[in-house]
Amino acid sequence: MTHIGIVGAGAGAAAAAFTVDGALPDADVTVFEKSGGLCGRAATRRHGELTYDYGANYLKADDERVVELITETLDDEGLVDVAEPVHVFDADGEVSPGREADEHKWSYRRGLTQIAKRLFGRTDATVHRRTRIETVRRVGDRWEVDDADGATRGPFDALLLNPPAPQTAALLRDAEWDSPVREALVDAVGDVPYRTVWTAVLRYPFSLDVPYYGLVNTDKEHAIGWISREECKPGHVPEGESLLVVQANHEWSVERYDADPAENVAALADHAAEIVGDDRLADPAWTDHQGWRYAQPEAGVAHGPIDSARREGLYLLGDWVAGEGRLHAALANGLDVGERVASV
Ligand SMILES: Cc1cc2nc3c(=O)[nH]c(=O)nc-3n(C[C@H](O)[C@H](O)[C@H](O)COP(=O)(O)OP(=O)(O)OC[C@H]3O[C@@H](n4cnc5c(N)ncnc54)[C@H](O)[C@@H]3O)c2cc1C
Repeated sequence: MTHIGIVGAGAGAAAAAFTVDGALPDADVTVFEKSGGLCGRAATRRHGELTYDYGANYLKADDERVVELITETLDDEGLVDVAEPVHVFDADGEVSPGREADEHKWSYRRGLTQIAKRLFGRTDATVHRRTRIETVRRVGDRWEVDDADGATRGPFDALLLNPPAPQTAALLRDAEWDSPVREALVDAVGDVPYRTVWTAVLRYPFSLDVPYYGLVNTDKEHAIGWISREECKPGHVPEGESLLVVQANHEWSVERYDADPAENVAALADHAAEIVGDDRLADPAWTDHQGWRYAQPEAGVAHGPIDSARREGLYLLGDWVAGEGRLHAALANGLDVGERVASV
């Protein structure tokens, strides 16, 4: 029996596990996820009657295989498509229609995490949550990992690493692995630049009369990069209420990353009120927030060292390997990597 280990349970890992499980039904797939949830940065929280996607906002239809996976292969019950458009705003907060419409803006009534839940749910993979992997080790021609409690897991014939590039680079830097590939791999993975995003979630006991779902700052000169309305996703927000997801731009997010969250939320609510043009938005009834140190890669990774590592049974996967900080790209890369693992 083939033993496959996967570090991280993001969308990429879920797609890879799903593909391996389909192609090699006898393979034993074990997943280690440091957090309590599945789907990584495509993240959903629930609070009372609220459901909200506070990382990735939606899934686009930009990859044919991913579209087929979502609409045909997986159960599409509860899949929702945001109909309202995305408008743009400039450095002065001036809003105008203008962004080319995405063909689809998908989430689920129960949020984007459904993607990984449904993919893993179709496999026999064992998923260990709240299990952070701290050490990666090559033993003979197989792999082992140690978790934060010091337990050794494995051995695995193939090891897949799904964390964002800086976290994968840290694992590789400390890996117990003698290989001519390692140094170039650590350098290539460590070089991937990331955008930081600080997110505020703002709830209001009234509905907003605006024609758009989202607002994006196209000149990247405003402190806010993105604002969207979770009430446009059926099942997310009770009738007659609004829930805004407000994402600060990279510079603002880096500068205020460790500042008092209440002050950050208040500042982002003020910006939202000004951009949307509704003073009431400065005073939300309830709020939540999240800092994303490694929100989205701004470039891909050099592929030479990644291809070399594969020959030793080490597979790297995720949006940064795909070269695009998008959910569909992470899923597509996971499908590719799963096929490669299964074909060895
Ligand atoms: C604020 C924000 C907004 C975004 N907006 C959009 C959008 O609108 N549209 C879009 O398409 N995409 C968007 N994205 C990007 C999208 O979320 C990602 O491209 C996609 O989710 C990446 O999936 P992944 O599988 O590559 O990795 P991840 O989702 O990062 O999964 C990696 C997993 O590894 C786990 N992990 C890390 N280290 C360890 C360890 N040592 N041990 C065990 N587990 C570990 C993490 O907890 C995580 O669950 C956004 C992201 C953010 C943060």
